[in-house]
Amino acid sequence: MPPTPTLVQITGQNHDVVVDLIYAGANNFTGQVIYAHPLCFLHPQAEAGLCRAIAAARAAGFRLKILDAFRPQEAQEALWAAAPNPDYIADPKKGSNHTRGVAIDLTLIGPDGQVRDMGTPVDTMTAASHHFHEAHPVAVQLNRMRLLAFMLEAGFVHHPREWWHYQLPDAHTFPLIDSHDFMTCLHQGA
Ligand SMILES: [Zn+2]
Repeated sequence: MPPTPTLVQITGQNHDVVVDLIYAGANNFTGQVIYAHPLCFLHPQAEAGLCRAIAAARAAGFRLKILDAFRPQEAQEALWAAAPNPDYIADPKKGSNHTRGVAIDLTLIGPDGQVRDMGTPVDTMTAASHHFHEAHPVAVQLNRMRLLAFMLEAGFVHHPREWWHYQLPDAHTFPLIDSHDFMTCLHQGA
């Protein structure tokens, strides 16, 4: 059995971010609580990139708000059952890059402490979520561009159809992480 990658926990205490996982509550596109816990984890390489993005954002007066990171396979199956749309949700048979621990969904908090207007709620599965969609006003374009700049500078790649989604390059080369193994590790404190 291949070893389970060690994931790094992301919290507001050990990282200068706000963690507010949308699937840990019912305020998401499914209307259901998907996660049994509100804990946020990333692969160590993604966590290193996130630290660079946090620093870049901070230098410009912004903070990052994490909406999703590692996503267990069971959660991916629940999302696919609610919206089997391969343009926006990875087929759980193929696996999500979130289940590899190398994808992050996030938004931006401005210098005033308010979440910036990104034009659509997260997980809006329409063209309005695409980067540089023409319908949005300049302020929205600039907010998306700021997030894009922080994340690209940190080594992530963007998703053309989802302003909120970033992942490591060649994400598919990272193994899917079995959450049963992972949670067992977590409970053992490994
Ligand atoms: Zn995502």
